[in-house]
Amino acid sequence: MELTFLGTSSGAPTTNRNVTGLALRVDGRWDLFDCGEATQHQLMRTPLSLSKLRRIFISHLHGDHCFGLFGLLGSRSMDGATTPLTIFGPHGLRAMVETVLDASSTHLAFDMEIQEVGEGGGSVIDDEAMTVDAVPLTHRVTSFAWSLNERDRPGHLDVEAARAAGVHDGPMFGRLQRGESVELDDGRTIDALDVTGPVRPGRQIVIAGDNSAPAALFERTGGADVAVHEATYTEPVLATIGDDHGHSTAARVASAASAHGVRNLILTHFSPRYADSGSGLTIGDVRDEARAHFDGGLHLARDLDRVEISSDGSID
Ligand SMILES: [Zn+2]
Repeated sequence: MELTFLGTSSGAPTTNRNVTGLALRVDGRWDLFDCGEATQHQLMRTPLSLSKLRRIFISHLHGDHCFGLFGLLGSRSMDGATTPLTIFGPHGLRAMVETVLDASSTHLAFDMEIQEVGEGGGSVIDDEAMTVDAVPLTHRVTSFAWSLNERDRPGHLDVEAARAAGVHDGPMFGRLQRGESVELDDGRTIDALDVTGPVRPGRQIVIAGDNSAPAALFERTGGADVAVHEATYTEPVLATIGDDHGHSTAARVASAASAHGVRNLILTHFSPRYADSGSGLTIGDVRDEARAHFDGGLHLARDLDRVEISSDGSID
């Protein structure tokens, strides 16, 4: 699994950071979480292709999280993609997308399904690979986090042990690796558990939209292997502006993640007032504030960062 950050600025782009977009590649396909304006431009700077995009999850309908949808859908169609695409998001998403596509006479060459999620959230995907639940957040409009829970996977196949048990090279290896038992020509049955390592527990990844109450989120999801959450402000900045506008500070997210056992915290969606370097407010201030409250793996996302999530749920 690999995350690619396509935009890490809140509200408006800066010269270094686009508005929100995040890709999660799983095997050969990938899902997109939020689609701010120019997300398709960012994608051209990655190896990800629109034809391999299978699902889009929109956390909420503020423009910096979804105004890139229309261009991306049109380009996916012009690229010749014919595989179906499902888009999940809050109520109002369907009207927004259909209105723009209709008004611009944009006809898609692929089947698109829009699934609107009720205010209370709930299960949106339950397949053999993972479940995905929408978890309601606290923001100025309906906003969701997506909690991805991968199913446990069979242990790695011990090829030598399989050969020693009489399995010939070929399709039976694949079946054993998938956790199935196989029958040999001599009638013996080889149980996958006898020739594979320990079961690999599924990973949990939480990808949150805009949210001013991270403790409530992590109380619902528990301690994820990886959590991606906005840290729009630091506490001193919030003290001067006085209104969180439905957003979090680095301290607020980091404390909540720590209290609920999040292993790796990735912060994103930074106010444009934080520069990457210089003598004024910087992303370093955000990092320092988070680090003071969180001992686990901490990463402050930059545009086009690629973060590999290893099979045990750790990140570099
Ligand atoms: Zn918002």
